[in-house]
Amino acid sequence: MSWDLPDSISIREVGPRDGLQPEAPVSVGARVRLVRSLVAAGVVDVEAAAFVSPKAVPAMAGADEVFAGLAGDSGARRWALVPNVKGAELARAAGADALTVTVSASETYSQANVNQSTDESVEAVGAIVEAAGDLEIDTVISCAFGSPYDEAIGPFDVAHIVERVQEAGSTHITLADTTGIATPERVADVITAVGPRVRLHLHDTRGTALTNAFAALLLGVAAFDTAVGGLGGSPFAAGAGGNLATEDLVHLCDGLGIDTGIDLEAMVAIAQDVGGLVGRPVSSRLANVLGS
Ligand code: MG
Repeated sequence: MSWDLPDSISIREVGPRDGLQPEAPVSVGARVRLVRSLVAAGVVDVEAAAFVSPKAVPAMAGADEVFAGLAGDSGARRWALVPNVKGAELARAAGADALTVTVSASETYSQANVNQSTDESVEAVGAIVEAAGDLEIDTVISCAFGSPYDEAIGPFDVAHIVERVQEAGSTHITLADTTGIATPERVADVITAVGPRVRLHLHDTRGTALTNAFAALLLGVAAFDTAVGGLGGSPFAAGAGGNLATEDLVHLCDGLGIDTGIDLEAMVAIAQDVGGLVGRPVSSRLANVLGS
C-alpha cells in the first residue's frame, strides 16, 4: 500500500461539550464521570464544558463545577469553549488548560449563532487571547467547508480568516464542517489553501464524515475533533447532524496502522453508556454493531 498517512494523530474528544450541548441537561456528576472515563480510555485532549450563558445553553450550566470536579486530574488537557472575554476569565479561574473560541466563515451563520459579524468575532479573538494569559487558544472556524445559506465561501476566504486569527494570537486552528456539507474534494481544496497543520471538526449529517477524515489523512492532516457515540449537532444550524464518532475514527485508524492512543473497546463501552445518559441509542456505527 502506497498511501502516505501520518503515523499518529491527535484526537480531541468534544462529546462532553459539543456533544451534550444540544441535549437535555445531565448532571455535573455525570459530566465529570464521562470526562474521567474518556481520559481512562486514552483521551489526552478533551473539551469538557463551555462557559456560556446557562439561559441560552442550559446543558452547559455548571461549567465551573465540572472543572472543579476534574481538579487534580492531570491525565489530559482540559479545553473549555468560551464565547467572549468574560467566558475566558471564568474558564481560566475554573482551571481550564486551554480555550476554544469560534469564528464563522459564514456571515449569516455568525449572525444567527452569536449575533455578531465575522469581523467582530475575529476582533473578539484578540481580546480573548489577552484575557487568557498563558492558556493556549484554538480558533474553531465554523462553516469552513461551505455555508447552509447559499453564500459563496471560497478556500481563500477561509485562509484569510486563518491568517487574521493567527495574527490575533490564536495558537491553534480548527476547521469545522458545521453542517456536514464537505466532500473529499472540498476538503482537499480548503486544506490546499490553508495547509495541513490544522485540526478538522467533521459532522456526519450526510454520512460523509469518515470519508472526509480519510481524505484529510491523505492530505497530511493529523488532528481531529470527534465525539464519543457521534453525539452533537449545532442547535442553530438546520439539519446539523452529529459529530464524527470517536470510536469510528479510532476504528479506521487502527485498521490503517495510525496510532490514536485510544483504546477502541473502552471507547465503544463509553459510547453505549452515553446512550443511557442522553436517553436514546447513539448514532455511531461501531457502538451499534458491537453493542447488539
Ligand atoms: Mg460539532
